[in-house]
Amino acid sequence: GTLAELDERLVHCRACPRLVQWREEAARTKRRSFADWDYWGRPVPGFGPPDAAVAIVGLAPAAHGANRTGRMFTGDRSGDFLYAALYDLGLASQPTATHLGDGLELRGVRITSPVHCAPPANRPTPEERDTCRSWLAGELRLLRPTLRAAVVLGAFGWQAVMPALAEGGWAVPRPRPVFAHGTRTTLPAADDGAPLTLFGCYHVSQQNTFTGRLTPAMLREVLGEAARAAGL
Ligand code: SF4
Repeated sequence: GTLAELDERLVHCRACPRLVQWREEAARTKRRSFADWDYWGRPVPGFGPPDAAVAIVGLAPAAHGANRTGRMFTGDRSGDFLYAALYDLGLASQPTATHLGDGLELRGVRITSPVHCAPPANRPTPEERDTCRSWLAGELRLLRPTLRAAVVLGAFGWQAVMPALAEGGWAVPRPRPVFAHGTRTTLPAADDGAPLTLFGCYHVSQQNTFTGRLTPAMLREVLGEAARAAGL
């Protein structure tokens, strides 16, 4: 199948009872400032072209961000931070992401997450992470012909992406590389395919960006390195 077909199947997934309940409850109750929104309330597919050279792997949709708008990192502060950096580097067509149909396009970059439904307190369980892994592995496998670099935002995504990369066709070294901001490691392909350069970066959550743990310059540096490694 194609990536578009995978996305089409994904949005109907109900494999995690706790997350199905949470995403739908958030969509029903809404945040007051979004009272007139028709919330997405479903699994959020990856965003970006099917022949991307760089993948950005986050954590999970925010209840009133992507779970409202239906697109990764769209409609919240984390996304404002991420898309501004992508725009600065020429990887996004505009610096803001507000809703489906806002005109935003990504160049050579696909944004996805190891868990596709909004979790309570932004914390999926290990079981939910493992249940959702087949979606991420399938997506990475379909991207593999063009994918040359991946930026993983935070330790949760880092842990989740390793087995998905192994399923997707790359050789993950043992012991597994450890997450750190700015870390960079190359995974050979399990066959004669191209290697993948993996980058660690603090997550773009407000917890990190409001406190200055992750600055715009730090994010630009990692994303820029990944783009260069991927030949963008
Ligand atoms: Fe399905 Fe993933 Fe959502 Fe679980 S988190 S219901 S596996 S899409």
